[in-house]
Amino acid sequence: MTALRGDRPCPACAADRPRRIDGYSPPDWDVVACDGCGFVYLRNPPPYEALREELAWEKTYVTKKKKGGSTPLSGLGARLRTIGRRIRGRTVEKRYPEWFGTGRVLDIGCADRVRTAPPITPYGIEISAFFQGRADARMRQRGGFCLLAAGAEGVWQFEPGFLDGVILHSYLEHETQPLRVLEGAARALKPGGRIFVRVPNYGSANRRIVGRKWCGFRHPDHVNYFTAASLRRMSERAGFSMRLINRANLWFDDNILALLTKA
Ligand SMILES: [Zn+2]
Repeated sequence: MTALRGDRPCPACAADRPRRIDGYSPPDWDVVACDGCGFVYLRNPPPYEALREELAWEKTYVTKKKKGGSTPLSGLGARLRTIGRRIRGRTVEKRYPEWFGTGRVLDIGCADRVRTAPPITPYGIEISAFFQGRADARMRQRGGFCLLAAGAEGVWQFEPGFLDGVILHSYLEHETQPLRVLEGAARALKPGGRIFVRVPNYGSANRRIVGRKWCGFRHPDHVNYFTAASLRRMSERAGFSMRLINRANLWFDDNILALLTKA
């Protein structure tokens, strides 16, 4: 177990002065707050290789579970949550043309989905070979493709200025090198290009109230716990300005929705 895990410095400011938050850390995993900037993150995440296997397993398992039987009550709860997610997802997806125009849009951590509609040309990066194959087939039908890679590596394979938009939907909380992804996206985007970001909101009232049982904690899948302030700082470091989409209800929202614009 120990051999699988590598410690990491603060992904926001690179300081290596972490303070373990015992109340949020299960025995094997260290959720820490950076003494330099306050950023909360998982200090000992699994490496990409382990993640590849785990993610493939997890996504497959979740897909199967949705189709399979369950108790009526848990089934109803899961269905309501799924419907809620779909409605919120579609509301956001309808705004992609407004944000990205009709050009090339890269979805990092896309699984086997194509979130954008024509005439946008879809591109993706996916770490699980199973999902990448399916996404690649779908994206190629519309003139794009999906790379098999970790996001922080794959995003640097795009030509500078190639993209009009990037989607980081429930992705950045999984990425051990979030700043490197944002810097790579800044390079791959045209001037004025945008990134849509959706991440769990560590600053939410719900996290303060329910503590360790907060829905945003997923060990060891989630490795970064952003607040609107820390997301803004990291975005600005990478060369973006940030606008909150859910500013009005941010305090009560378990997620941060933001639009980053390349300077
Ligand atoms: Zn820090």
